[in-house]
Amino acid sequence: MKITNPATGAVIANVAADNAAAVRRKYEVARAGQDRWAKVPIRKRLDAIARFRDRIVAMQETLARTLTHEVGKPIRQSRNELNGLLGRIDFFLAESLRALRDEKVFADAKQKQEERITHEPLGVVANISAWNYPYFVGSNVFVPALVAGNAVLYKPSEFATLTGLHIAEMLHEAGIPRDVFVPVVGDGATGAALTRQPVDGIFFTGSYGTGAKIAAAAGRRMIKVQLELGGKDPVYVCEDADVGTAAAGIADGAFYNTGQSCCSVERIYVHESIHDAFVAAFVAEVKGFRMGDPMDEATYIGAITRRPQLDVLKRQVADARKKGAKLVTGGSVVRGKGNWFQPTVFTDVDHSMALMKDESFGPIIGIEAVADDEAAVDLMNDTEYGLTAAVYTPDAKRARKILAKVRAGSVYWNCCDRVSPRLPWSGVGHSGIGLTLSTYGIQTFTRPKAWHLRGA
Ligand code: NDP
Repeated sequence: MKITNPATGAVIANVAADNAAAVRRKYEVARAGQDRWAKVPIRKRLDAIARFRDRIVAMQETLARTLTHEVGKPIRQSRNELNGLLGRIDFFLAESLRALRDEKVFADAKQKQEERITHEPLGVVANISAWNYPYFVGSNVFVPALVAGNAVLYKPSEFATLTGLHIAEMLHEAGIPRDVFVPVVGDGATGAALTRQPVDGIFFTGSYGTGAKIAAAAGRRMIKVQLELGGKDPVYVCEDADVGTAAAGIADGAFYNTGQSCCSVERIYVHESIHDAFVAAFVAEVKGFRMGDPMDEATYIGAITRRPQLDVLKRQVADARKKGAKLVTGGSVVRGKGNWFQPTVFTDVDHSMALMKDESFGPIIGIEAVADDEAAVDLMNDTEYGLTAAVYTPDAKRARKILAKVRAGSVYWNCCDRVSPRLPWSGVGHSGIGLTLSTYGIQTFTRPKAWHLRGA
């Protein structure tokens, strides 16, 4: 399998991919290793994760460079992802013992009756991961899964393969046995072969389209399936918001990681009374973003990782223009080597346009004027997705009222495009089922076993 730098189109590595027979062998290896791993005391498993953290710190600059070379992420944002990863690992190190401890939930001395819950590992789990934040979306699964005593068959996206191999190497160096964390390398066909193995759970991060295939593949097997999928995340700016602060925060939320985040801001609704002032401030922010060599420290907009996404963006631009939207800046593919798209802003958009309904996953956004909160909420909810939603206003009561009506896994007041390890990460509708992060996102890798105990 050829690994290509999306910023230049140059082939940077060749990697051997796993065919269906190799995937099967790897499954058998993980199955044989899991039982022994589950018997290792949890404190020892946590020690290995702490050593993995040390490896990341030691390797940080190499890891950041690899990530930038293979996904086109600006180098500063690659470093940010690695720093953020340390915070997530710290959360799992601090909370796992408490989340996974045996619980006594009832005791009656007279009846000699007790009720307990233990958290048993699921067994062998498949972790099929996306490329856009490979450290974040991977670690949300494999760290708590390993801590809970599972063996993990980890398939990085083909667009983040070198990062996936770094992760495997560091985990093995940290003391996670090779038959407990097993990387599976390849493209979608390899992922599909992995879903056919008799695993005990499938934890997937990626698009709705692929998620639906995985749900169908797992359907009759009664195994745990978690799907963390895409979004079309809205922001609403009320007329009492500080226009400059909102514009700066939302522009960052829309264009960070070149708009290739599951929780990127993908639609903006602005109260009509401040629409023009907001658009002016927002476009000024966007025009200030530097696009260029992802290895340059000053670069903020990097390459589009997957080349076919350029066609999605081109189609959304053409469709919006045809239906009467006003292109304020950008709008085109950048000619030359690699995959590049100009930061693009439309106004005068509506929900007849793909730009406002389908996931863009790139540096492109529409801004729509709304008359009041009710109209904003209706538009925010007019989507198949439901990952995140945000509102900007100084009025806490108003923000709570609006956010309570929005169908989304995460809601934000005066912030956006944010993930916290302390809070559950989940989606509604086409944004997925199940959750990661928080203490629930540790327990999700276990089967709570109910013990009804009565003394003789
Ligand atoms: P894809 O759905 O294209 O791929 C995700 C993973 O699935 C990759 O490892 C891919 O392999 C693999 N795959 C592809 N086809 C199959 C198949 N038939 N069976 C099993 N596995 C398969 O998503 P992307 O990697 O392009 O990621 C972008 C998407 O992920 C966006 O929609 C984004 O919103 C979403 N996402 C959601 C997050 C969340 O937390 N909710 C977080 C991050 C991203 P390969 O790449 O090798 O083809």
